[in-house]
Amino acid sequence: MARARLLGLTLLIAFSLAGCREAAVRYNTRYNTLLQEELPRPLPIPVDGVTASHLQNTWGSARDGGRHHKGIDIFAPRNTPIRSATAGIVEFKGMKGLGGQVVTITGPGGYRFYYAHLEDFGLQEVGDWVEPGEVIGYVGNSGNAAISSTHLHYGIYEPSGRAINPYPLLRGGQPFSLVGETQTAAK
Ligand SMILES: [Zn+2]
Repeated sequence: MARARLLGLTLLIAFSLAGCREAAVRYNTRYNTLLQEELPRPLPIPVDGVTASHLQNTWGSARDGGRHHKGIDIFAPRNTPIRSATAGIVEFKGMKGLGGQVVTITGPGGYRFYYAHLEDFGLQEVGDWVEPGEVIGYVGNSGNAAISSTHLHYGIYEPSGRAINPYPLLRGGQPFSLVGETQTAAK
């Protein structure tokens, strides 16, 4: 009886490991391909209903404590869907200092996309693959945005960790919501 149980347990562990290995191989291939890809230019605008003409270049503006703004603020009503601008892997999801509720995604070329001040999250968990246009959260004012209007703080970081200005990348871009409408209209 004990031996049968031990055998069952051994088989269970063996199958679990095989499953993990298979998942790891599939994930790594996809991930390695992603790391070789170029950053799309222009980038889609990650907030529904916001067009490029509504964006303001707030990169570098002075902030409290001698800091400078390392991203762009995209203003929109509370709970407006936020979509991943690119394919990628969820690297972080949770509370993160001044950013409040934050999602970070590693995308093409190993660039990191930082989405902050969220009201709520999408359904993904850390380690999940996301496709471009997938809802990863909702606009809010969590963290140090509590006293300002609801907005997405959107940051883009090179693989080295250096922040770059998202504004020029978003110029000429469209929100996924509008791309969807355009496609529907063209049918
Ligand atoms: Zn900001």
